[in-house]
Amino acid sequence: MPKSAAYRVVILGSGPAGLTAALYASRANLEPLVAEGGGGDDPTDVPGGQLMLTTDVDNYPGFPEGILGPDLMERFRMQASRFGAEFTRGTLRRADFTRRPFALELEEARITAETLIVATGARARWLGLPEELEFRTRIGGVSACATCDGFFYKGKDVLVVGGGDTAMEEATFLTKFANKVTVVHRRDALRASKIMQERAQRNPKIGWIWNSTVEKILGGPGVGVTGARLRHVSTGEQSEVAAGGIFMAIGHEPNTAIFRGQLDMDAAGYLKTFGGTATSVAGVFAAGDVQDSRYRQAVTAAGSGCMAAIDAERFLGEHVTENWDPLPARAPAV
Ligand code: NAP
Repeated sequence: MPKSAAYRVVILGSGPAGLTAALYASRANLEPLVAEGGGGDDPTDVPGGQLMLTTDVDNYPGFPEGILGPDLMERFRMQASRFGAEFTRGTLRRADFTRRPFALELEEARITAETLIVATGARARWLGLPEELEFRTRIGGVSACATCDGFFYKGKDVLVVGGGDTAMEEATFLTKFANKVTVVHRRDALRASKIMQERAQRNPKIGWIWNSTVEKILGGPGVGVTGARLRHVSTGEQSEVAAGGIFMAIGHEPNTAIFRGQLDMDAAGYLKTFGGTATSVAGVFAAGDVQDSRYRQAVTAAGSGCMAAIDAERFLGEHVTENWDPLPARAPAV
């Protein structure tokens, strides 16, 4: 539950972008509130963002030995907390950007914000097969998070769909548990970075099916996933492959549905930013994967979180001139 009903800076999201924005905003004495996100129906939607679902992070500067994703996010959070950032659970339900301060309906309270930093990130994409949701949510056997679910596939043969870094990472991680991991990719060349391709290709437990898409997930209640029907993209030939689980690793989409019609977005739903982190609404800023379909790295997200906090601070300096009451004098949240 937020301590107050009115904030100068509210940050949505607690991944690298949100927590870096929180660090900078709290060090600027702006007493930010961070709505941490998570808690929805999607088990991969967790506070801390996508790094909570990853294992070794070897490319975050300052950690020469690498660090586990959740450990890195814990450090980010501790650092923001140290300077007084406030945290509340849950996500945004409704926002009114027609006037400032903005009225925000969070899961736990209704509050106002002079500035808002949107750092809601992106989420895993699914193939959109009719049976996919059923297997994901009720029957089991389909997942988009090897770190979360890999343990349940001990000794099984599993498929990983995709050819990017996520697919390589998931496949490599799954070899710790699975008997065999087969990567199914729709082209004959991987999109993944060279180092991650090579790591996966060196792994004797990983096999490859090229130029193929998943047409149907096979199995049902009682037996779970038993395999997949594949289609060769150029010949159209269909084949079946046996598997006890399928991991989708086909990319991500931005968490921006709630802002549709309120903030300008590109065709894929990524928020448009102008001259730094400003969005199409004055006083609303965006940072991290929610506005970046190009780099999508923890370090670039953190960098843009820093930019958003500085942009919000400058905006407040230029637009909010009245004295701000210290925290205890503010009205309690409703
Ligand atoms: P990505 O790079 O967009 O790759 C998605 C993969 O899924 C591509 O190979 C794509 O095929 C395939 N795909 C997309 N839609 C599909 C569909 N409907 N059916 C079948 N296949 C489909 O996504 P990502 O792997 O999640 O990586 C996202 C970003 O995060 C990248 O910048 C990546 O470098 C970064 N990342 C870094 C790490 C790390 O450094 N530890 C780990 C994970 C991700 P095509 O190749 O044919 O387009």
